[in-house]
Amino acid sequence: MPYDYDLFTIGAGSGGTRASRVAAAHGARVAVAEEYRVGGTCVIRGCVPKKLLVYGAHFAEDLRDARHFGWDVPAPCSFSWARLRDNVMREVDRINGAYTQTLRNNGVEIIEQRAVVTGPHTVRLADGTEKTAERILVAVGAHSAIPECEGHEHGITSNEVFHLPELPRRILIAGGGYIANEFAGIFHQFGTHVILANRSQELLRGYDAQIRDRLLQISTMKGIDFRFDAAFRGIDKGADGCLTVHLTGQEPVVVDQVLFATGRRPNVAGLGLESAGVEVDDLGAIKVDAHNASTCPSIYAIGDVTNRVQLTPVAIREGQAFADSVYGGRPTTVDYDCIPSAVFSHPPLAGVGMTEAEAREKLGSVRVYSSDFRPMKNVLAGRNERALYKMVCDGMTDRVVGIHMIGPDAPEILQAAAVAVKAGLTKADFDATVALHPSMAEELVLLR
Ligand code: NDP
Repeated sequence: MPYDYDLFTIGAGSGGTRASRVAAAHGARVAVAEEYRVGGTCVIRGCVPKKLLVYGAHFAEDLRDARHFGWDVPAPCSFSWARLRDNVMREVDRINGAYTQTLRNNGVEIIEQRAVVTGPHTVRLADGTEKTAERILVAVGAHSAIPECEGHEHGITSNEVFHLPELPRRILIAGGGYIANEFAGIFHQFGTHVILANRSQELLRGYDAQIRDRLLQISTMKGIDFRFDAAFRGIDKGADGCLTVHLTGQEPVVVDQVLFATGRRPNVAGLGLESAGVEVDDLGAIKVDAHNASTCPSIYAIGDVTNRVQLTPVAIREGQAFADSVYGGRPTTVDYDCIPSAVFSHPPLAGVGMTEAEAREKLGSVRVYSSDFRPMKNVLAGRNERALYKMVCDGMTDRVVGIHMIGPDAPEILQAAAVAVKAGLTKADFDATVALHPSMAEELVLLR
């Protein structure tokens, strides 16, 4: 039976866009359906606008530090949230346009509608049209999970946070992960009073404990109010619009805004996966093999909907691997080992490979080198914030199995260091490299 397309992709986020355009470049007839905006979470309401807000937020400290470097900045210095927000959204529009153009340039048909699966080779669009394809790729991403609690509808998620009409005077952020810590830093720099309420004792699970402790210490010193073992019980909205938040083990907290940053769940509701025998796990993630194939032979899935590693560059790799394998005659699987990641908190932190605790559990013999220092710029600025770099090595082979850092530009430095960790270099290889002075990154080759 002739199909309408060789490939029908559902979702034009980072993964779906890469898979679609590469498949088309390999000669496939491809359509991609997108119910919201081409670009997906990362471009439209995630990494990209968040990073721009982080840049904007950083000016608060830079302006304060400026006088130590000879600059007189008139006080009080004012900040326009509306101007930054609108400029960020304009940039999002630009990238959205670039993504759309790239798809079109590669001959991919963009269908601006929701599509759901109705069988192994069929999808139905929101307008009722049925389309057929030899293969279907599900790349629909994930959505913010909101804890079950009374009054949760009064809170917002990372979807809404970029569009706030005005900055809240007080915000309570629920969660202790990536989004919570990044937005705690952003709002704090903009002058909002930030309370971060986490249900457990641990922030940023998965990152090295000492690095996380340093973030907590610096953030507390700056004035972010952390509440631990504080699960959500409910939110009441008063006549004045203020929100009273009830947390376990805490007095009620009154704020102007509540942001839920409590993890993300795969977007599988109502997607019709059962009609094609596509199985999902207990969290709703589509079960796939190393080749991104689902339990239905003609349906594949990549990115956050598979809940493997919820990071844009991973979804992009999965999309590329899928397209190269299926349409490019180059069977490829994604290597999930040593994926670098970062939290764009204030200051940022980043890591690659095993944490010290993981290495001690897995390797037994471990050597840890660290440098705890005050960056030169912070010294002159009178800023009492110390950076911390850690290198975790296999005690038997000297191989570097993990690098973890917190401090200015940590993500930029870590990306380069991750190449060495991925390549399996040893501590001696780092030591053999001459320091680039004066830099913060030179600490990596001077660790004792
Ligand atoms: P995270 O998984 O990072 O953190 C979720 C946090 O919410 C944890 O502290 C978790 O606590 C807590 N939590 C989970 N469920 C509940 C609940 N029912 N009630 C109260 N607290 C709860 O999720 P985020 O939402 O911050 O981010 C989603 C994903 O997006 C991340 O996993 C990451 O992959 C990606 N992301 C990446 C970024 C980057 O690369 N810089 C930036 C932003 C997002 P506990 O630890 O106890 O489970």
